[in-house]
Amino acid sequence: MKHFWLAALALNLALAGSASAQSTPYPAADLRSLYEDLLGKINAFPIFDHHAHPGYADDSDVDAMAAPPDMSSVLRLREDNPEFVAASQALFRYPYDDFKPEHAKWLADRKKDAERAGGTAYFDQILDQLGIETCLANRAFMAPYLDSKRFHWVFFGDSFFYPFDNRDVIGSNPDMGVYIPLQEKMLSRYKKQMNVEALPADLAGYEDFVRRTVALNQKRGGVAIKFEAAYFRTLYFSDPPRERAAAIYSKYRSAGVPSADDYRVFQDYIFRALVDEAGKLGLPMHFHSAVGIGDYFSLRQGNVLNLENVLRDPRYRKVNFVLLHGGWPYEREAALLTAVKNVYLDTSLQSEMLYPSQFKAVLKQLLTLYPDKMMFGSDAFPFNDALGAEESFWVAVRTSRMSLAAALAELVSERAISTDKALELAHMYLHDNAAKLYGSAVIAGANGGSK
Ligand SMILES: [Zn+2]
Repeated sequence: MKHFWLAALALNLALAGSASAQSTPYPAADLRSLYEDLLGKINAFPIFDHHAHPGYADDSDVDAMAAPPDMSSVLRLREDNPEFVAASQALFRYPYDDFKPEHAKWLADRKKDAERAGGTAYFDQILDQLGIETCLANRAFMAPYLDSKRFHWVFFGDSFFYPFDNRDVIGSNPDMGVYIPLQEKMLSRYKKQMNVEALPADLAGYEDFVRRTVALNQKRGGVAIKFEAAYFRTLYFSDPPRERAAAIYSKYRSAGVPSADDYRVFQDYIFRALVDEAGKLGLPMHFHSAVGIGDYFSLRQGNVLNLENVLRDPRYRKVNFVLLHGGWPYEREAALLTAVKNVYLDTSLQSEMLYPSQFKAVLKQLLTLYPDKMMFGSDAFPFNDALGAEESFWVAVRTSRMSLAAALAELVSERAISTDKALELAHMYLHDNAAKLYGSAVIAGANGGSK
């Protein structure tokens, strides 16, 4: 026994001697210089933006959804945030210090000129200024002014959930009154695209329409399918028997307003068909997995943990799932779900909504869990004619590079990881993880992506 303690004591002394290999709870005096050094390097790293809505303000295809009337906006995303002015100054040499209407007009005019001139050079130039090499564009349809070598289409899957008479859903609250008619519009555009006039006679026909639409969208350059289902319903998808879904389809195909239960069961079935098709096509599935805008977004129903039964289903091992916005405010739950081999997340939205000191803490946690699963995202979106997706990209990129450098500097200074490891993690998060996930589908020039 005595020998054991002596041996333990000797070991402790040996460890104390190699303090550099032992992580500590406080950063050392080198924190600030580590941060400056890492930031300098990280500022030059190329970015793969995993989630954005690029486009001009008057292009309604930038999203399949629209903001509800009179919604509350978090502080940093309000139009009077001076950081947006800084963004306009950095990107366009905007000559004013505010967005007073008479000043904002200068900016709006400039963007209108670019839109009128046409061509892909304008948004390519924005990406170049920010060091973004590749950007996934989550849009209803792509636009000819987005370069198909740089911007890759992520199309929407939610409209397949709403083929019946939607009056009850639309009337359920004012926000659904905005959202669901847009889903109906999206579905009718898909029907037109597939030359489907009326709803197919039975569930088999509808399922075929759904699968063929998804396959054609992929052929047209789609690299993933996105669901903002959390805005409309629970993210918990049951696994109903086919006969039940078939009976519901027959009942409401031509008339009648489905009960909430019937509609959900039908949607759950169609969702399962979509997961199956995505697996067959090798198409990653994206989920809005964070809190949403509007007064009626349900935090409980939108909680990313509702997806757990789908994400951990062994039948779907070959389907890649990505949790957009990293589940925030349940970002730790989302991060833990990426332990599953085929589950990833991006930090879009968080990179715009959280200030660097807050986002630094998030990244520090994420990068010490499954750093091979975490991806940068902006969620850039045009706010109005003056304040566009361009400024939104700028804020997200700048916030992410700073927060990443700060999180990694702390980890290096606390002797948790080496500087080399920090730089490796930065590359993975900003670019390499996403590039690996999408592979040949997004290699510049390799994807035709017809418009
Ligand atoms: Zn988005």
